[in-house]
Amino acid sequence: MQNSFNIAVFQGDGIGPEIMAPTLTLLDHVAAGKYALNYVDAPAGAAHYARTGESLPAASMEAARAADAILLSAMGLPDVRYPDGTEISPQIDLRKALTLFAGVRPVTIRPGQPTPLALTGGQTVDFVLIRESTEGLFHTQGRGEVTQDEARETLLITRAISEPLFKFAFDLAKARKAAGRGPGKVTCVDKANVFRAFAFFREMFDAEATKHPDIAADHAYVDATALWMVERPWSFDVMVTENMFGDILSDLGAGLMGGLGLAPSADIGADHAVFQPCHGSAPDIAGQGVANPMAMILSAAMMLEWLGGRHDIPAMIADGDRLRAAVEAVIAAGHVASRDLGGSAGTSEVADAVRAALA
Ligand code: NAD
Repeated sequence: MQNSFNIAVFQGDGIGPEIMAPTLTLLDHVAAGKYALNYVDAPAGAAHYARTGESLPAASMEAARAADAILLSAMGLPDVRYPDGTEISPQIDLRKALTLFAGVRPVTIRPGQPTPLALTGGQTVDFVLIRESTEGLFHTQGRGEVTQDEARETLLITRAISEPLFKFAFDLAKARKAAGRGPGKVTCVDKANVFRAFAFFREMFDAEATKHPDIAADHAYVDATALWMVERPWSFDVMVTENMFGDILSDLGAGLMGGLGLAPSADIGADHAVFQPCHGSAPDIAGQGVANPMAMILSAAMMLEWLGGRHDIPAMIADGDRLRAAVEAVIAAGHVASRDLGGSAGTSEVADAVRAALA
């Protein structure tokens, strides 16, 4: 087939394989006859480490590097740790090794979705948080200096990462506007009133904004953003921020969406991208067939849209949209809901409902 793509698949730990299997079946179903997705298994994670002493084997890293896109479920198990006491987290190693600077976290509240917000009839929320994912306050991760009386970590903001990050944000706002999903606006979330590093961050954002006269640009301080995400989340379209701020705000976003079971994500760089749900390996429910596969399916939908945009295949972009719409239809109907959404449906029942909604 002319359009054929290699997808590195990290089945991961805990519920990982349980949510990955039905997602791959759904992907094959939507792709049928139009393009081919060849799955390359990439063993890695905590269970793999416990068995072999390796958390991210070189062959799996190579498969990720060589792939057109990477699908990852979740990795890590609380009881499996390196000798220094930290957890096995190859998903973070991948982010660094492949320079995946744009952490894309859509926050979407669809009709019928359980949310702590008091939305009035038919009101929806649909914005995207972009978390820079390779530097910021994570720059000295694992290398912080601690003495008897002091601890130091360093926040790093570079032009080499910030400029492509802001370009990515404006391009995304443009694509959302074209698709009728947003007004075409990017908000730079920072703390430029206090820190020089964030004044520098903002300066580079403003410079990029001048190249996109068709897209509105504004700024917000991170503390106010936390308030506004709760008070008026519908006022955001695309927001872009530093690594640690984004880490915190994306969990707030997942909370607004009614939990982790519906929160997809993508980590995108210049040449590679990883698509994975925001949640972890949920060892407390692993092996029971009750995990909600929706965040994994929505992440796969983001992969189709990204691949379709990158290779100029409109059918692939449309399939990503169809897959997302099918998940939204199941949520809106409310008949088939997994335990985390207050229902009793198992993983395969939810996946079957999504497949039925595609029809
Ligand atoms: P978690 O996200 O795995 O689970 C938190 C809670 O949410 C649990 O009660 C779990 O049952 C529930 N939950 C999560 N996903 C669900 C789903 N799809 N359907 C239904 N319920 C779901 O977070 P945790 O318990 O803090 O972490 C467990 C392990 O996962 C840890 O080892 C952690 O390091 C790892 N982790 C990995 C990633 C990743 O791979 N990106 C992210 C976060 C945590």
